[in-house]
Amino acid sequence: MTIDNFEDHIEPKILERGFDYYEQDYVRQVKQIATGEFTAKVMGSYPYNVYLRFDDKTVEMHTCSCPYEYGGVCKHIVAVLYYIADAEMLDEVIEILPTEDLQNILNAVSEAQLREFVLKYAKLNRSFRKDFLHRFGTNIHEDEEDV
Ligand SMILES: [Zn+2]
Repeated sequence: MTIDNFEDHIEPKILERGFDYYEQDYVRQVKQIATGEFTAKVMGSYPYNVYLRFDDKTVEMHTCSCPYEYGGVCKHIVAVLYYIADAEMLDEVIEILPTEDLQNILNAVSEAQLREFVLKYAKLNRSFRKDFLHRFGTNIHEDEEDV
């Protein structure tokens, strides 16, 4: 999926809603935080944070903080895609230092995604698991941390 053909890859209903959001000027604060990486806020009944990463014109990653989880692209992401396409933002070559990356990405990650990541990561990484239990496991017996 690229910025030029995303309409062929997204369900028409979602496309239509996303386009409405774009037309109603719901897309705000579109920022290129690093080369090919964008964050934006999409208004509506509730404001959501969108993060998009492109490799050249190809969409490599997209996340949105809304609860829509039926296989990826929601209307908020579509709205931002329309915005970036129309403003031809990908044609400007901008080199930006990725200073706020972590905070911006974190803002766009949903709680469910975050929980899933923490769970997976804690299984893989013993020292992270230990730190996590130390920080949040106040009711977990501290002296059993090496089990
Ligand atoms: Zn969304």
